[in-house]
Amino acid sequence: MRNVLVVVAHPDDAVLGCGATIAKHAAAGDIVHIIAFADGIMGRSGPPKERRAEEFAAHARAAKAAAEILGAASFSQLDFPDTALDTVPRLDLARAAENAVALRTPEIVYTHHFGDLNADHVRVHDAVCVACRPLPETCVKTLLFFEVPSSTEWRAQAGAAFEPNWFVDVTRTIELKMLALKAFEMEMRPFPHPRSFEAVSHLAGWRGAAAGVSAAEAFVLGRRIEL
Ligand SMILES: [Zn+2]
Repeated sequence: MRNVLVVVAHPDDAVLGCGATIAKHAAAGDIVHIIAFADGIMGRSGPPKERRAEEFAAHARAAKAAAEILGAASFSQLDFPDTALDTVPRLDLARAAENAVALRTPEIVYTHHFGDLNADHVRVHDAVCVACRPLPETCVKTLLFFEVPSSTEWRAQAGAAFEPNWFVDVTRTIELKMLALKAFEMEMRPFPHPRSFEAVSHLAGWRGAAAGVSAAEAFVLGRRIEL
């Protein structure tokens, strides 16, 4: 039984990035905690206050439902400003990530890849790397970065491409990921948008093909400490 921590910018990122892997951990008896830095709704060009409150409640419900479907032990939401994490001092973000690591003592940590178009994702990546630096007696032995459809592959910059070197066979749990994504239907788009049910399913098939299995989630290994 291992402690696993998933640190994301927005609630749906956990499902999109590593939902089936979360479900696989949970099925194996691991304790998975998910923490999101921002609520993921403020980016919508300033809806009226009432609508925003409704959206916030809907997202909170979706995040809780998705965490339950995947078998995560907890989902927690911080209140950093959505789509504006780059206005928050880096130290504050790093401290929040450090607090999460201190609280959950994870052996494995999943977070965003640095090559991502979404600035919130990049800031969370940085904060988690600070929180997971290998100080003596650190609990974190494996640090992995995931891809988020319609964010990671849209980073059009040489040298920042997501080049996975870690594959998790999720043949048995991909359906749970798709089910959890249904909770976030409001965030999904029609195909061929990368954040469509079809594209997410295709990606799992393609990452699986790259690893010789039917369905996979792909990661870049940040650090692995073998004792
Ligand atoms: Zn996001």
